[in-house]
Amino acid sequence: MSVYNDILYPALPVFAQNIACSAVGAVRFRSRFSSHFKRVLKYWERSVDFSTEELHLLQRNRLDHLISRARDHVPYYRDLSPPSTAKDPKQAIEENLSSIPPLEKREYRDQSEAFLARDVGNGRLHRVRTSGTTGTAIPIWHTPQTLAEEYATVWRLRRSCGVEGPSTENMTFSGNIVVPFSQSSPPYWRYNAFAKQHFFSIYHMGPANLRAYVDKVHTIDAKYVQGYPSSIHLVARALLESGKPLEPGRLNAVFTSSETLLSFQRATIEEAFGAPIRDRYGVSEFGVSMTECGQGNLHVDMEFGIVEVDVTEETETSETGPLLITGLAHSAMPLLRYKIGDVGTRSKTPCPCGRAGDVFLQVDGRVEDYIMTPDGRLVGRLDHVFKEQLAIDEAQIVQERRDAIKVFVVPGQNFDDTESRRLERSIRSRLGSDINIEIVAVSTIAREPNGKFRAVKSSVGRINA
Ligand SMILES: [Zn+2]
Repeated sequence: MSVYNDILYPALPVFAQNIACSAVGAVRFRSRFSSHFKRVLKYWERSVDFSTEELHLLQRNRLDHLISRARDHVPYYRDLSPPSTAKDPKQAIEENLSSIPPLEKREYRDQSEAFLARDVGNGRLHRVRTSGTTGTAIPIWHTPQTLAEEYATVWRLRRSCGVEGPSTENMTFSGNIVVPFSQSSPPYWRYNAFAKQHFFSIYHMGPANLRAYVDKVHTIDAKYVQGYPSSIHLVARALLESGKPLEPGRLNAVFTSSETLLSFQRATIEEAFGAPIRDRYGVSEFGVSMTECGQGNLHVDMEFGIVEVDVTEETETSETGPLLITGLAHSAMPLLRYKIGDVGTRSKTPCPCGRAGDVFLQVDGRVEDYIMTPDGRLVGRLDHVFKEQLAIDEAQIVQERRDAIKVFVVPGQNFDDTESRRLERSIRSRLGSDINIEIVAVSTIAREPNGKFRAVKSSVGRINA
């Protein structure tokens, strides 16, 4: 949220920052929890019990609408074939998709405005940027309806865990810089009174500071925790190390998202917070949502998107490969069979929990590392700094020593000294002034042995079980 990056915010006293958080919270609340949100959530709380055939019929209707709209109003898809007339919904979906070539990120990035539906007024479009998992900035547009449907997937999950609605007291550990970096004593949290949301800074989690987090967590009468698993895990470790885990049952659940949830993180978090984790896989491109059930599997929210696996590995019970996503709620900017860059493993057998539709055993591709600062803080999710850097084609942060990092960038056309300094400032706002930052221009960035790209690699901050 831009308000936290505003030059004024860090200079405000804590009580005024709390008021600012609440004001931002009120605006967000109204935009997310609209009448469309309520209508969709109500319907989806019924469709969650649909059979696979009913879900395919629902998907087919939405896909037909998406394709027709794309043909009529989206320049990039002007020559798309009309929707299939096959009787069987599943067959129709397959026919439609197989006639469309997969969409590469680069293809989208080079002409992103050609994907905008021309019949949407500019006033209804919101623009965000995503860093994806490749360190490449991409602009994405969406309407309030798209966002409302994304939130319907989130709230269907939460409500299934007994969290009633958006005004339930909670603790949030995510990337917003709510506490200025220069602050060196508690409170390392702010409060959005509007949504009863306690925002914890994830940029102040050094060993000494974590004691304050532990004490604060115990004073809050929250029903759930949400945020990045890497950050929640640091607090969980501190809770256990200080011998002060939360009593089991106090929280309904811990909702993680935005990063790959690692198994050692899960065990520690569930023990320390005394509640089960319900992970969610979503992306900034609004094309997919998967939500975890009590059996630990990720169910595709079929109403929201279609997920295909470009299979590279297959066993009797599962198939693995890069995901192609088609967002059914994103008709203002259709991305059909978009190669999101993550790899998933789909189960060939139904989930024992009884919910129908596609089930994934896991989704990888969001495994990032932590950078460890000279004063011992562990900072995750640093790929965020590349979100605002359109002048960079690709980037990677590598740390081999505690006191230094190297930032490898593949410069784009507009990359110059000003952009380089801006990048350094952005990184420094998260890591502090004691670390040496070297920006190195390169022509390519090496991939991991499995072919995947990692935005952040640290051999210093790595945490093992
Ligand atoms: Zn299940």
